[in-house]
Amino acid sequence: MDISRRSFFTSSAVIIAAICGSAASQAQTTQAVTENDPAASALGFHLNASTVDKAKYPTYEAGQSCSGCAFFQADAGTTEGKCSMYGGRTVPSTAWCAAFFKRV
Ligand code: SF4
Repeated sequence: MDISRRSFFTSSAVIIAAICGSAASQAQTTQAVTENDPAASALGFHLNASTVDKAKYPTYEAGQSCSGCAFFQADAGTTEGKCSMYGGRTVPSTAWCAAFFKRV
């Protein structure tokens, strides 16, 4: 194998590894938060805010949901977004957890 061919294969391997690493990283940050996730469960995460038990989570107030939370980041009109409380993982706009902090 001459140097230019070796150089081509080395460069190709580096590019493929970079693409795979980037895709894996993106998949991890866009993974949806679930109610069974230990961190989410500890904060009483509910996919549907209207099902939150006020007696169990006294900080919950009717009408609160991710769409009105300061940690929620989404384009206008979308039904899910990223929550910075959970490392940028996705949550539905209708969800809720005890870390809710009203957006001003
Ligand atoms: S921190 Fe806010 S946006 Fe994130 S899950 Fe809890 S209520 Fe939803």
